[in-house]
Amino acid sequence: MYSAPFEYHAPATLSEALALLGRYGDEAKVLAGSQSLVPLMKLRLAQPAHLVDLRKVEGLTGVREAQGALLIGALTTHAALASSEVIRQKLPMAAEAAGQIGDAQVRNLGTIGGSLAHADPSADWPAVLVALDASVVVAGPRGERTIKVEDLIVGPLSTSLEPGELLTQVRVPLPPARTAGAYEKLPNPASRFAVVGVAAEVSLDSGNAVQWARVALTGLASKVTRAAKVEQALQGKAADASTVKAASARAAEGLELRADLTGSAAYKAQLAAVYTERAVLRAISRARER
Ligand SMILES: Cc1cc2nc3c(=O)[nH]c(=O)nc-3n(C[C@H](O)[C@H](O)[C@H](O)COP(=O)(O)OP(=O)(O)OC[C@H]3O[C@@H](n4cnc5c(N)ncnc54)[C@H](O)[C@@H]3O)c2cc1C
Repeated sequence: MYSAPFEYHAPATLSEALALLGRYGDEAKVLAGSQSLVPLMKLRLAQPAHLVDLRKVEGLTGVREAQGALLIGALTTHAALASSEVIRQKLPMAAEAAGQIGDAQVRNLGTIGGSLAHADPSADWPAVLVALDASVVVAGPRGERTIKVEDLIVGPLSTSLEPGELLTQVRVPLPPARTAGAYEKLPNPASRFAVVGVAAEVSLDSGNAVQWARVALTGLASKVTRAAKVEQALQGKAADASTVKAASARAAEGLELRADLTGSAAYKAQLAAVYTERAVLRAISRARER
């Protein structure tokens, strides 16, 4: 099916892009990698009269290190992040998650900012970036603001972005010593979206106990969710296999698990426990080497 007609705009600067969004208001949509928006347009589930393509806007791609953080342009593709040397070294969880998104076409076109703005409840980036305590920089008619990824995503396909705002950057604080993460995912065999995805970031103290852990789940609920019970059960405990197993068994506590074509609620609770255990164990093993 073809999309409804629309007018295409390709601004060269951020201020031009913001001006177009201001001028066309509700009738305009931002276009990034096109991997989620264009399918919706072809199904006529989205019918924007104006598309504001961000791909020619300067300064929205790439990764750089500054002020104790990695600053990732919102238009950076999944493929670029999977192969980025600095991401592989400093945030191996992010590189491994990016490499598991969709297929080669999706990874070469889809962007980290597009994934966050789209807020699919089975997407990989939200879980990884919540576990990494990342924030996004947002530009809009009233200037710039910063939002934690945890506060950006408010529901299925729903964010706290205001009209006329767009994402320009993702900021990930660099992990301290003896801290690392891992991502474990069961992909849907057709789409590769997560049936379950678990991102775990763990920090160890000098005695090998868990100082803190941040564990985020995707695919299981209406939006990315912290596994608070797992985090509490790990904190201050010895980083060993039996502690991790007992803590991970609590992964689905408090979640409203939905039965769907990928499995029953009981199956999903079991997946949550198993994938959490795998992610936390790998995060601990990486943290010991750092
Ligand atoms: C076959 C297939 C398989 C996929 N598999 C996976 C998977 O395994 N895991 C996964 O996580 N994702 C998967 N995806 C989704 C993919 O990651 C998309 O790239 C992503 O969700 C959207 O990014 P995009 O850059 O393509 O955004 P677009 O499709 O261009 O835009 C998506 C939405 O975000 C808005 N938007 C885009 N950029 C910005 C911005 N900078 N500021 C504000 N709003 C913005 C747009 O207006 C639109 O509403 C898959 C997609 C396909 C088609």
